[in-house]
Amino acid sequence: MKIHEYQAKEILAQFNVPVQKGIVAHTASEVEAAFTELGEPLAVVKAQVHAGGRGKGGGVKLVKSATEAKEVAERILANALITPQTGPEGVPVKKLLVCPGLDIAKEYYVGLVVDRTLGPVLMASSEGGVEIEEVAAKTPEKILKEPIDPQAGLLPFQGRRLAYKLGFSGKKAEEVCRVMQGIAAAFLKYDGCLMEINPLVETKQGDIIALDAKIEFDDNASFRHSIYAEMRDTTEENEMEIRAAQHQLSYIKLDGNIGCMVNGAGLAMGTMDIIKYAGGEPANFLDVGGGVSRERVTEAFKIVLSDPKVKAVLINIFGGIVRCDVVAQGVVDAVNEIHLNVPLVVRLEGTNVKEGREILDNSGMTIITANGMQEAADKIVAAAAANQKGDS
Ligand code: ADP
Ligand code: MG
Repeated sequence: MKIHEYQAKEILAQFNVPVQKGIVAHTASEVEAAFTELGEPLAVVKAQVHAGGRGKGGGVKLVKSATEAKEVAERILANALITPQTGPEGVPVKKLLVCPGLDIAKEYYVGLVVDRTLGPVLMASSEGGVEIEEVAAKTPEKILKEPIDPQAGLLPFQGRRLAYKLGFSGKKAEEVCRVMQGIAAAFLKYDGCLMEINPLVETKQGDIIALDAKIEFDDNASFRHSIYAEMRDTTEENEMEIRAAQHQLSYIKLDGNIGCMVNGAGLAMGTMDIIKYAGGEPANFLDVGGGVSRERVTEAFKIVLSDPKVKAVLINIFGGIVRCDVVAQGVVDAVNEIHLNVPLVVRLEGTNVKEGREILDNSGMTIITANGMQEAADKIVAAAAANQKGDS
């Protein structure tokens, strides 16, 4: 779960990270008033959306007067913001953050992720700023790393070691060390998946300040943090992903045209892989979970088909706990209810598979059955391609 920059800054401030003060605004006039309230010669107007790379997309603008702040805000609010992380349609902007404009001497990067082999890891780089992805891809040695003990947090010597390597010394190194210990403590306390300060800047006046902040929480920990619900902004999330979560379906929208309905996350990943190998593009990841009932399949169909790009649907179910005949009946009933208008390929395997296939074959519906993953992938890719062609 993602939160906004201004919220991430509120959290980091609780851990003594020096964050820039800012005023949240919803309209251009509020931005104009915020500029005046800050009383600085320079301010930045920053789009608050759940996507990074805003600077590159025109979502972070320096302004020199209240009037300019208002004009810039009008422009940002009126258009979808397209950044390297939003996809070509962009995202609407509903909130803005107005902060004082700073004289930046140098931009650094500080971030945390959970590494599968090491556990929580703190990363730091002297090459912070909007090109950090490029730095990581081309010169990975410029990203320094320290694994963190989940009980002890980032130890002072680890923070100092990083700060020295970034080029700080003396009191400045201590300050940077405290920033790193603060963000690491926030990460552990609130069960972060990702936390970033990019950039952490040193100003020309010599201050160390977090200019940007990004936090993603681990949804699995929501039961122990009321702050997740308080900070959640569902208007920034995919409507269908929210609806799927309400029905205990894990759904993630992707860009292709083949809808997938699979039981088990591993099989769902494998299905997406084999579709790709067969030359197709999955429209989604969807794990319908263990109990594949009629209600679940129906709901899953509705969600998958709500995406207008979907030109064919593949159901790939392994009947381990659930029986294939029950699944097959669920599929037939669901197809009847929703009036499916794209080709459907079904691959069933496992307990009572014979009975399951008979139900599909005798349903009187044009359900394409497949034996094995490869055949299913070939058939669904062909069906989607034919339907796509028919449409265009
Ligand atoms: P994003 O990472 O989404 O592009 P940032 O908040 O990191 O957004 O802003 C992008 C860039 O804009 C920063 O790397 C920095 O160079 C500049 N910037 C951001 N805030 C300020 C500020 N208050 N004063 C001066 N420059 C800023
Ligand atoms: Mg940034």
